[in-house]
Amino acid sequence: MKKILALTLALGLSASLLAGCGGSGSSSGSADNAAGSDTEATAEDSAASEQLVMATNATFPPYEFVEGGDYEGIDVEIAGKIAEKIGRELKIEDVEFDTLIGGVQSGKYDMGMAGMTVTEERKQSVNFSDTYATGIQSVIVPDGSSITTVDDISSETKIGVQQGTTGDIYASEDYGDDAVTQYKNGADAVQSLIAGKVDCVIIDNEPAKSFVEANEGLTILDTSYAEEDYAICVSKDNEELLGEINDALGELKSDGTIDSIVEKYISAE
Ligand code: GLN
Repeated sequence: MKKILALTLALGLSASLLAGCGGSGSSSGSADNAAGSDTEATAEDSAASEQLVMATNATFPPYEFVEGGDYEGIDVEIAGKIAEKIGRELKIEDVEFDTLIGGVQSGKYDMGMAGMTVTEERKQSVNFSDTYATGIQSVIVPDGSSITTVDDISSETKIGVQQGTTGDIYASEDYGDDAVTQYKNGADAVQSLIAGKVDCVIIDNEPAKSFVEANEGLTILDTSYAEEDYAICVSKDNEELLGEINDALGELKSDGTIDSIVEKYISAE
């Protein structure tokens, strides 16, 4: 892995040196041809190195969602600012939440940003940036539910979660796998709650609010289930990018950009 990274860096460097040679476009082109498939990789790598590929799961309002065919949300905007600061073009890949970490780990994506909670277990697989937001695991129930506090949830409760999220992980630990039904995304879990197939949904607070707003007859319990920090994950092989992301985040925090992005999407109550 390290070797591949070093090679990529070397190829990227030689490509940018060539690009810096001004009028030598045609000669670098013929040099590329002479070197065959290796140079094809050079071109691709250099193009790829100008992008910042962010993997997300765009079913998580207000952090990431699709509106009018565009990706929007807090994470999307913060990522745009980070990309700007590090001089790369943001490219968003919308994938299942539970494939994010593997994809970042294997180098398929440069970073994962999806309202992702920092956990000790995930830290074994990827590095996390400094945290840029806090999250709360909330419980959504139908109006009039006999579940009125988190303490009313038990191993007898049918709990809906989004697969692979901390809501899923904690609920499975606390109440057992049999109590938990996993859905591909939060919206599916909420639809299942509306249909009466589960008794509650455990999910991050801000998406919970969006889902409750969009659907009649649902309530969020006053007591929260867990509190956590959101951060961006990066491959353990890419310390350089992690440093760049942290520097950018630091600047965006201190100049108020992150606060204003958050305020745009989350009204202060
Ligand atoms: N914060 C939760 C987690 O990291 C959920 C994130 C999400 O569904 N996008 O597991």
